[in-house]
Amino acid sequence: MSILKMSDLSLAGKRVLVREDFNVPLQDGRISDDTRIRASLPGIRSALEQGARLMLVSHLGRPTEGQFDEADSLAPVATRLSQLLGEDVPLVRDWLDGVTVEPGKAVLLENCRFNKGEKKNDEALARRIAALCDVYVNDAFATAHRAEATTHGVARFAPVACAGPLLARELEALGQALENPARPLAAIVGGAKVSTKLTVLDQLAAKVDQLIVGGGIANTFMLAAGMKIGKSLAEPDLVAEAGRVMERLAAKGGSVPLPVDVVCAKEFSAAAVATTKAVADVAEDDLILDVGPRTAAALGALLGKAGTIVWNGPLGVFEFDQFAGGTRALAQAIVASPAFSLAGGGETVAALAKFGVTDRIGYVSTAGGAFLEFLEGRKLPAVEILEARARG
Ligand code: AMP
Repeated sequence: MSILKMSDLSLAGKRVLVREDFNVPLQDGRISDDTRIRASLPGIRSALEQGARLMLVSHLGRPTEGQFDEADSLAPVATRLSQLLGEDVPLVRDWLDGVTVEPGKAVLLENCRFNKGEKKNDEALARRIAALCDVYVNDAFATAHRAEATTHGVARFAPVACAGPLLARELEALGQALENPARPLAAIVGGAKVSTKLTVLDQLAAKVDQLIVGGGIANTFMLAAGMKIGKSLAEPDLVAEAGRVMERLAAKGGSVPLPVDVVCAKEFSAAAVATTKAVADVAEDDLILDVGPRTAAALGALLGKAGTIVWNGPLGVFEFDQFAGGTRALAQAIVASPAFSLAGGGETVAALAKFGVTDRIGYVSTAGGAFLEFLEGRKLPAVEILEARARG
């Protein structure tokens, strides 16, 4: 996989259009978390230092196309960005007919989803956007699984199309973990349901040496192995699929290790009383809500020998402290392992933050949808088009 990178180009005096991910959470019109804006700063600064005429473009929320709506305006982002950069970044409301920017200056183009045809990747719209720039830069991995006018179409028609530093780094980390990994490669797939992650499990089963399942997903695998799970969350109609995943791993000398002890409760609530027991002792009215300490220690030992670790999804209901032990132990084992580690997805990022270990993971992907689609082995359209452009 080869793509052109922004760092390969000279941007002086060029009109440079950067697709950013400024889809930040807003509360009462105020930005409640500006991580995404901060993440974009090194790329923006480097382009400005070179004297680029910078146009930043992003979506925010889900407005109705063709209609301006104050609630989805990027105005709060323009204000925050100006503060962080220490210089004014004006917001341009109507930009499709042309934008004036001085070299070494940046403007923010108003929410691209106000344009009719953005989500459908309309060709005429994409051509108009491409005409604004000499260089198109995609720096928004979180939207790479969507073919839209500012993520895909524009890359077809812009004179030059390349990846910005954030996108390049994300692709490098994902490639390092899955395309040419140091072995053994261990993947952890936790969370609520097998059905939402079946393609991920299938794909990973083909690639990894060890597949650790957790949460509700592990319950279905336990059923497949003939273990009792009481009234725990599970999908009995997917037991055969779970069995096939285990067979695939076994056939190549790997395994899907299942819990030996679990943390149970009689009800699903923040106040539920947690009881740790051996899996053989799970009662009819038990809900399995976490793995037990012996299981966590065994998984930790396994991860200590891994060369690469990929993680998506918690091992238990980590939102309730009494059922967070398994996921916490897992996060700590990943941090302690010499393996290159890659973690991603909404709940996983929340778990890492809760346990305060985000900075000690090799790479953390905050892009939920795009991250899972990459794990599913799907080609991301926004990346595919950059590859096609690099081939000429
Ligand atoms: P997902 O979005 O599929 O990654 O699922 C994450 C959610 O699964 C979290 O909110 C957890 O609380 C939940 N979860 C994890 N383990 C269990 C379990 N054993 N039973 C029920 N829910 C679980």
